[in-house]
Amino acid sequence: MYKRLGRNDMCWCGSGKKYKSCHAAFDDKLIHYEHEGFIIPSRDLFKTEKDIEGIKKSAVINMAVLDEVGDKIRAGMSTQEIDDIVNDVTTKMGGIPADLGYEGFPKSVCTSINEEVCHGIPSKDIILQDGDIINVDCSTILDGYFSDSSRMFMIGDVSPEKKRLVQVTKECMEAGIKAVIPWTPIGDMGHAVHQHALDNGYTVVKEIGGHGCGNAFHEEPYVSHVSRPGTGMLMVPGMVFTIEPMVNMGRDEIFIDEENDWTVYTADMKPSAQWEVELLVTEDGPELLCW
Ligand SMILES: [Zn+2]
Repeated sequence: MYKRLGRNDMCWCGSGKKYKSCHAAFDDKLIHYEHEGFIIPSRDLFKTEKDIEGIKKSAVINMAVLDEVGDKIRAGMSTQEIDDIVNDVTTKMGGIPADLGYEGFPKSVCTSINEEVCHGIPSKDIILQDGDIINVDCSTILDGYFSDSSRMFMIGDVSPEKKRLVQVTKECMEAGIKAVIPWTPIGDMGHAVHQHALDNGYTVVKEIGGHGCGNAFHEEPYVSHVSRPGTGMLMVPGMVFTIEPMVNMGRDEIFIDEENDWTVYTADMKPSAQWEVELLVTEDGPELLCW
């Protein structure tokens, strides 16, 4: 799978250095892991310095958008108003909302309230109520680079049960971040996420996960949050992906809205929460790019 170059050839990574003094040892290490039976990433999943700078600039917008939503969100507001904020801030800063038109998605952001797991569609008819919890999942394109993150917001007086769900879901994401250890399989990370949810009496959605991200909205690998240790692609320095567990208060089963074909709900209609970060794997561990 990996083609070694001549030792004095220019490296494939675009550094302008000779292969022998750039990625030769890195490739040897990957080939070693592949022989050991690990799934290794294809070369196009390794971000260059330029890619990482581009993703970080895109992320500046994405995070500013979520900050602005956090400042303005309140009971009585429609989710369309959230969509308007996302669109205004993103475009004023020179970005494009990645959600808009993505596979036909009609709005600029996903707004998922209470028992909605993800992919809720903003509407002027959906009004935030005191006690709601809402996930706002936002993605930005800038100069062809994609950033992606989501946060939970609590509206007014939220019940202790829902507050705990939001808090534990954040901890699940953090457990995943902590488990991003370079040259280990991504299944270890997903298992750490799942275990923290189970320890707290919650379940994790199995059918939807995170994804590679950066040069496109959705890249390899698929990132499960319910995976078995020792499985899945190796987390190799240079890879960028999201961790975004959907944690349910009740059972893990979900269904998709038949009318709009987007919005995902918990089957038992109990609340669900989600947090998302986009990160870079480095030799020293994870570097958060967007949160
Ligand atoms: Zn190189």
